[in-house]
Amino acid sequence: MGKAEDYIEEALAAYELGAPVVGAVRFGEGHINDTFCVHTQPPDGACRRFILQRISAAAFGNPEQLMRNVVGVTDYLKKVIAREGGNPDRETLTILRTRTGTCYFTDRAGGAWRCTPFIEHTVCLQAAETPELFYASAKAFGRFQRLLKDYPADTLFETIEKFHDTENRLRNFRKALEADKLGRAAGVRDEVEFVLRRSADCSVALEAQRAGKLPLRVTHNDTKLNNVLMDEKTGEGICVIDLDTVMPGLAINDFGDSIRFGANHSAEDERDLSKVNFDLGLFEVYTKGFLEGCGGILTPAELEYLPWGAKLMTLECGIRFLTDYLEGDHYFAVHRAGQNLDRCRTQFKLVSDMERCWDDMAAAVRKYA
Ligand code: ADP
Ligand code: MG
Ligand code: MG
Repeated sequence: MGKAEDYIEEALAAYELGAPVVGAVRFGEGHINDTFCVHTQPPDGACRRFILQRISAAAFGNPEQLMRNVVGVTDYLKKVIAREGGNPDRETLTILRTRTGTCYFTDRAGGAWRCTPFIEHTVCLQAAETPELFYASAKAFGRFQRLLKDYPADTLFETIEKFHDTENRLRNFRKALEADKLGRAAGVRDEVEFVLRRSADCSVALEAQRAGKLPLRVTHNDTKLNNVLMDEKTGEGICVIDLDTVMPGLAINDFGDSIRFGANHSAEDERDLSKVNFDLGLFEVYTKGFLEGCGGILTPAELEYLPWGAKLMTLECGIRFLTDYLEGDHYFAVHRAGQNLDRCRTQFKLVSDMERCWDDMAAAVRKYA
């Protein structure tokens, strides 16, 4: 597809930004899309900034469906935020229309571009420097759930098929183990055993969903701290961004993925497992923020299954790393031998920790429910 830089002039020309463009530079620390910050300068006014992104063609095969999800959700959020007296231009993304009225632009190589006004006076942090910031991100993602509680989730496209189909992840793992293409299975007996002992767990959330206990919701599916813009002064979570993976799903999975990623203090590929510990205190902090943000919209069953969300997202992620290790590391990029196995081991360590303090996790949910 070529470098995004080769097409940016074309993409810029597709938009009417109200004033001449004086610069466009690569921006942020996102790993998926090509993100640029565009500056415009009216002759007699203040400079304005925009975020212009080329959507990753490698990650997303269908930009049309992706953008229909994003526009559906942001248009809806704007109405609800306005109704509640909030600021729709600041508290959700605004997808600018191109000169021809479309919500994204396709360049001559087929790359899809979108443009949003820059949300000023906010910061995007890569890690929770304090529990307060973790809490703020939780509250923002909980609020996202609350604001979208009446959105018809089944009208959203499943842009990544079977994303959190843990049963399917398990099936793929079994296939990789069976094939054992690289003869790596013998070296990972403990990890294989770890998964097989938990194969029934992989069905817990899906069973509850099939039984009608867990409702289908609008889910974000990338609920990391760096996808919430925080107020630069107050540290409050202002705007949930990175809506590429918005899909129908389970609220407990959005919750769970935040916990998987944020409720510990180690790198995802840490080799010294003594440094990898699930932090129950951070779990509590996130639970408090998330449930406050949700404002009571979660059902009793969803509340009951929140710890499952945390465990299953972590287990599923570990299974994916292990599967990729067995298959020869072609999905998750590795920078050293055994990195996917190390990643798998950190996830399984966190799962074991969660199992050990399961009752405390449930108690934390009850405390803030
Ligand atoms: P990726 O999927 O690559 O993470 P994001 O949509 O999260 O892409 O965007 C990358 C980065 O660009 C974000 O982490 C954030 O720093 C910045 N960003 C995106 N949209 C905006 C916006 N509207 N206002 C300010 N910063 C933004
Ligand atoms: Mg992002
Ligand atoms: Mg993203």
